[in-house]
Amino acid sequence: MLNPGPATTTDTVKMAQVVPDICPREKEFAGLMKGLRNDLLKVVHAPADQYTSVLFCGSGTINIDICVNSLVPEGKKILVVNNGAYNSRAVEVCQMYHIPHIDLKSSIYEQPDLKAVEQALKANPDVAVVYCCHHETGTGVVNPIREIGALAHQYGAIFVSDTTSTLGMIPLDVVKDNVDFCMASAQKGLMAMSGLSFIIGREDIIRASKNYPTRSYYCNLYLQYEYFEKTGEMHFTPPVQTIYATIQALKEYFAEGETAKFARHRRVYEAIRKGVAELGFETVIDPKIESGLVVSVKYPDDPNWSFERVHDYCYERGFTIYPGKISTTNTFRLCSLGAIDVNDIDDFFVVLKQALEHFRIKLK
Ligand SMILES: *Cc1c(COP(=O)(O)O)cnc(C)c1O
Repeated sequence: MLNPGPATTTDTVKMAQVVPDICPREKEFAGLMKGLRNDLLKVVHAPADQYTSVLFCGSGTINIDICVNSLVPEGKKILVVNNGAYNSRAVEVCQMYHIPHIDLKSSIYEQPDLKAVEQALKANPDVAVVYCCHHETGTGVVNPIREIGALAHQYGAIFVSDTTSTLGMIPLDVVKDNVDFCMASAQKGLMAMSGLSFIIGREDIIRASKNYPTRSYYCNLYLQYEYFEKTGEMHFTPPVQTIYATIQALKEYFAEGETAKFARHRRVYEAIRKGVAELGFETVIDPKIESGLVVSVKYPDDPNWSFERVHDYCYERGFTIYPGKISTTNTFRLCSLGAIDVNDIDDFFVVLKQALEHFRIKLK
């Protein structure tokens, strides 16, 4: 799978879902979730005496919803540093809940300008939360979260980062990277199944948020945290089988190791870039600001090109390519997530080349 998630999983993770039936209100299951929550802290090097992880049943967007609606105090604002579709999603959440916010928009092809972030913070002393996505999965641009987090702290705000498409792939150290809250779902960097999402964040801030305006019943960070603290369980039914898969995926994550896994995604990305260049495709984002996880490729300028037909040709032969998410340019995406390596990419380019020949698509 060369789509930006759910990612290719190992067979051992798939099989970990096949377990005897269990009621998730059993102590045995709460014990499993306790271990899982601890392991998630380790993935982002979060000190257990300052940070906690809170699990939710839902896709990754539930985390954006929860962080935005739960962490803005009465009379305060959230500043969204916005250079793409996923940051725009946080802005949409603000709009839905009528949360006072600043949408600091900038080019989707570039990293945000730190001077503009500082100016916005200077001009708006009522900003309590700064928000920025680590990696805009729609383009492949990686954002300077450490610097943005430092600015947030300098101006007395907390920093929330959507790390859904980097956590478990690009090493993250929440303390060094100035991140108070980060988030992901199990099916991306951790290479588990979809249905489980989690927020890792500062426990003192979650406790303080008890007194913030409540804007959702199901998606409230404090309520879920409090339930976990009291009972060790999720407030409502957890995604039972996905949790078993995630526990297995975390075992495999620690066995592979943070550095080795990062290096593997990097070499897969480099193989994608090389293959794309060799065939003569053009790309959209400067590799210097690319995450190394997503490559946005321009449609070739040939009337024979049809993404759909090329997609189907590759899909029938075992490879999934993915549409782009850039409204101004026609692109598709090739991603380096999941349990894949360079040999898979080499195999893919054999098929893609065949597809181009089959449909008589010419590249420059
Ligand atoms: C995948 C992703 C999400 C979550 O998307 P869902 O479709 O809800 O799982 C959120 N943020 C980023 C940056 C992502 O890549």
